[in-house]
Amino acid sequence: MTSLKSLLATALVTVGLGGAIAVPTHAHTNAHTHSNDAAVAQAEDAVTFQVIPVRGNVYMVSGSNGAGNIGVLTGEIGPILIDSQVPGVTNNLQNVILSEFNRRAGLLINTHWHFDHTGGNRVLGETGLTIIAHENVRERMAAGQVIEALDRTIPPAPAEALPAVTFTDSMVLHVNGEATQIFHVSNAHTDGDTIIHFKNANVIHTGDVVFNGLYPFIDVSSGGSINGMIDGVDQILAIANDDTKLIPGHGPLLTRAELVEYRTMLVTVRDRMAAAIAEGKTLEQVLAMNLNADYDETLGNIFLSPEQFATILYNDLSR
Ligand SMILES: [Zn+2]
Ligand SMILES: [Zn+2]
Repeated sequence: MTSLKSLLATALVTVGLGGAIAVPTHAHTNAHTHSNDAAVAQAEDAVTFQVIPVRGNVYMVSGSNGAGNIGVLTGEIGPILIDSQVPGVTNNLQNVILSEFNRRAGLLINTHWHFDHTGGNRVLGETGLTIIAHENVRERMAAGQVIEALDRTIPPAPAEALPAVTFTDSMVLHVNGEATQIFHVSNAHTDGDTIIHFKNANVIHTGDVVFNGLYPFIDVSSGGSINGMIDGVDQILAIANDDTKLIPGHGPLLTRAELVEYRTMLVTVRDRMAAAIAEGKTLEQVLAMNLNADYDETLGNIFLSPEQFATILYNDLSR
């Protein structure tokens, strides 16, 4: 997890600026690859994946780069993947899937459009597997995006990376021995967030509505909001019980009780910021107040700094 910040610094540049990256000459490349592929190939060597059994035929695949956690549901059509990590590590990821589960991925569901959850779409899509996502995910990927809070530009995705099957509200997949419930939560981390509920296994992949152990990013420029995050968590809590295992977008597995603590944190930081804004505080004044000092030490040193997180909340709640 500690490398998530550097991942965002490098992978977003890889996606957004392509060949602008300086490429070490020793990177392994084929003769026909260009400089951006070389940078990506080098990144691939550095990333390792850990396969964590969750319950039944559900697994979590977690990358050493701290990018989005992948959920896997094994069964007759081959592993169904939830999210596809960053670009440039997909061959490595495919090898891990093949060696662990003896099958190529049979289907891919994206929890939202961010590059660290859809980065493998192009390579996986080229194998002919079907990609499923909320309609806003396809729209945002096709159009290209600017993440204002991180000052990053993501170019439009190629056709083979785009979800071929989209939905608006919810759908159910009856494959691999599961009734997999797939549903949209509105304007939470983005405007395309999807929760995946493996009912038989009693496992839920929350996407980036939940960050476990670090401040969550809320992508206001993609339609996200702190209030939507809290509503999304409430919808997850409503379908979870004490035995449910939760795969967060980032960080280790968590329980329902830990999700309740996460909700308390979200409500607390929301209410503190709303009160400061109601008092007419400027962003500068709010930052000087260190409103979330009690959380900053544990949650504010892995990805978003306390200042970045407070700025996102301020911009969201003062709209
Ligand atoms: Zn993410
Ligand atoms: Zn995200």
